[in-house]
Amino acid sequence: MLWRGRRQSDNIEDDRSDGGGGGIGGGGGFQIPIGGRTGGGGSILLVILVVIAGWYFGFDPSAILGGGDGGLLPGGGGQISDNSGGQGTAPANDEMKQFVATVLAETEDTWTGIFKSQGLTYEDPKLVLFSDQVRSACGFASAAAGPFYCPGDHKVYLDMTFFQQLDQQFGASGEFARAYVVAHEVGHHVQNLTGIMSKFNQMRQGMSEADANQLSVRIELQADCFAGVWAHYTAQKGILEQGDIESALNAAKQIGDDTLQKKMQGYVVPESFNHGTSQQRQTWLARGYKSGKLSDCNTLSGPI
Ligand SMILES: [Zn+2]
Repeated sequence: MLWRGRRQSDNIEDDRSDGGGGGIGGGGGFQIPIGGRTGGGGSILLVILVVIAGWYFGFDPSAILGGGDGGLLPGGGGQISDNSGGQGTAPANDEMKQFVATVLAETEDTWTGIFKSQGLTYEDPKLVLFSDQVRSACGFASAAAGPFYCPGDHKVYLDMTFFQQLDQQFGASGEFARAYVVAHEVGHHVQNLTGIMSKFNQMRQGMSEADANQLSVRIELQADCFAGVWAHYTAQKGILEQGDIESALNAAKQIGDDTLQKKMQGYVVPESFNHGTSQQRQTWLARGYKSGKLSDCNTLSGPI
């Protein structure tokens, strides 16, 4: 991707050096907004389970932790400001930060245009760079859970060491694989702004785990499709290089539930899939990329 010299987003919050500050063990803070239940031990266990699940299966502890229900959110973005003291001592991987800021800016431009064409106003998300652990309006998260989006505070959370993991552990190398990761999370933000995510959280209430997983797959595949839509417009700007799309598609393949489960545990448990198979993820990413139309990203009904 020919990203150098292009606009970089101002919506980056660099919280890397203090790694989440007083988040862990800080006492009193593990409030998970699920159905109003915020019990201590249970919530901590839930966080741990979600972190493990996120690590195995993909990106979004937020999708499980909920948070779409804004009324139940404790403190919102106020928690994040706990972590804001880390600037000035950021690690040296600033080129990667610039890359992420540029990709984020490209998503801002693209989605602003798409929203405008529908008579809507796009609101930029923030992207929080963190290391090791972070606290969001969706609760506490470890970097091991991978990047995620928190609907409660409209922020994407990214520990950039995930990119190395993506490359070395998951076999998904290339700049555009990383761009896809950011664009996928921004896709969740689009779902949040358009009300899809709160509808999802409502529908999920009272569902069996298997049904909720199936619904989650649909939401995740739509975020992949939205990432594809973004890539479509980015390609039109003439800044994609040969192999870029292929590297994003390969990333989608490598982080498919079936591929990850095979790699991690040697067998697959389809009922537990919550992000989609490799084939599904590639299909929907490619679909969005091909047409650039949101109407081609309706994963919520029909076969996927
Ligand atoms: Zn996702």
